[in-house]
Amino acid sequence: MENKKVVIVGGGAAGFFCAIQIAELHPNWEIIILEKSTKLLSKVKVSGGGRCNVTHACPDVTELLKKYPRGERFLKKAFYEFATLHTIEWFAKNGVLLHTEKDGRMFPTTNSSDTIIDCFLRKVHQFKIQVLTQHEVVDVERNHDTDSNVQPHAFTIHLQGRSSMTADAICLATGGMLKSDPSNKFKWLINFGHVIIDPIPSLFTFNTLDKKITTLMGVAVEKANIQWKGNKNTETGPLLITHWGISGPAAIKLSAWCARAMAEANYEGAIIINWIPSFNESTLKMEWINFRMDFGKREIGSKNPFDLPQRLWHFLLQEAGINLQTKWADLKSTNQQQLILLLTRYTLAIKGKTTYKEEFVSCGGVDLTTIDALTMESKKVPGLHFAGEMMDVDGITGGFNFQHAWTSGWIAAQHIGQPLSA
Ligand SMILES: Cc1cc2nc3c(=O)[nH]c(=O)nc-3n(C[C@H](O)[C@H](O)[C@H](O)COP(=O)(O)OP(=O)(O)OC[C@H]3O[C@@H](n4cnc5c(N)ncnc54)[C@H](O)[C@@H]3O)c2cc1C
Repeated sequence: MENKKVVIVGGGAAGFFCAIQIAELHPNWEIIILEKSTKLLSKVKVSGGGRCNVTHACPDVTELLKKYPRGERFLKKAFYEFATLHTIEWFAKNGVLLHTEKDGRMFPTTNSSDTIIDCFLRKVHQFKIQVLTQHEVVDVERNHDTDSNVQPHAFTIHLQGRSSMTADAICLATGGMLKSDPSNKFKWLINFGHVIIDPIPSLFTFNTLDKKITTLMGVAVEKANIQWKGNKNTETGPLLITHWGISGPAAIKLSAWCARAMAEANYEGAIIINWIPSFNESTLKMEWINFRMDFGKREIGSKNPFDLPQRLWHFLLQEAGINLQTKWADLKSTNQQQLILLLTRYTLAIKGKTTYKEEFVSCGGVDLTTIDALTMESKKVPGLHFAGEMMDVDGITGGFNFQHAWTSGWIAAQHIGQPLSA
């Protein structure tokens, strides 16, 4: 095949992975990564608290797809081509072994994101991929056939403060967008006919003005179920009470599922918490009869049958107007009903959000209806491919966002530079 010049825009996870795959397939091609900042792979560096949560131990594609609030259908075919097992295998083949934590998150065995960065830099060096920092792409033009017999490069890429360059194919891997980006930085993409779904944050924690619950700051519940009131999505998992509201995996995952609904409500509403998700209001009512019989003579403050943290248990008792010294058998039915409600349907008023520093992504980006899921190629501009977070795909926490970066980068690489279809 003739030699090609391929430009990858963005020196992040998806851009590097894509460039390396292209080089493996076409060692003679000229491959250039353009990065606007002075730093390469900066998010990989800080990811997973500096350990880089590379992927998730989730070999089943159907299960994997359920981790993407946006992009589930789009990713289906892609994941059958390249998913978590391929990721593990690719890194192992390139000298990076991963280990799995109890919750399924996978990290390099060195527990250092530098291991991933070093691996990518080694490959880039091996394949002589050019990496140009401080090269910000500000515009892209498509070149049309000239009268000459020489096929021109398909694209001209304009750079901030530098001479433009040409390319036969482009992979756009510029990462998550900010709210102002579509009208500012991606006008050219919109002019090509792409629609950009309004970017908003995902993966955040919830703020509350309720000063009572925040007195419990530091209390962690191993398994709670939470729901944004009025939204069908729920999440079950560890929940942490903080000085500003609630955090922990259950809260952060719920923020991904409800990112758009919450943005529309300006992050004001309520979260319904079931502190004991093995029960609902009616099953707990039935079980209560047994509690009264089993613990009748015990003081309710010292006998908590749910393994809830004692501070939380006492707080809920007080909220239900129950004296901690009350015997289980003497509990008044109104207080009992109130406690059952607080345990299974605690309503916490929410106002605002806080960015989760460990891992945040943007929801929104290039509309998937204008991208071919089998090739990651633009349906509007042949020769233009996409990879990573700049598309309207995002996952919950746990390594799913990097998995999407690897998968889309890999797919784009398999098809980039193929004869143009238009
Ligand atoms: C603090 C933090 C921790 C995270 N931890 C994890 C984790 O452990 N596991 C996980 O799965 N996900 C994690 N994520 C999410 C994950 O980092 C991203 O989803 C992933 O990096 C997306 O890769 P990308 O290549 O698409 O974008 P990025 O990694 O953001 O890379 C895009 C690159 O493009 C460059 N660029 C942008 N515009 C231009 C332009 N016009 N010209 C040239 N260059 C440009 C940017 O400077 C950037 O370097 C974390 C995110 C954050 C913020």
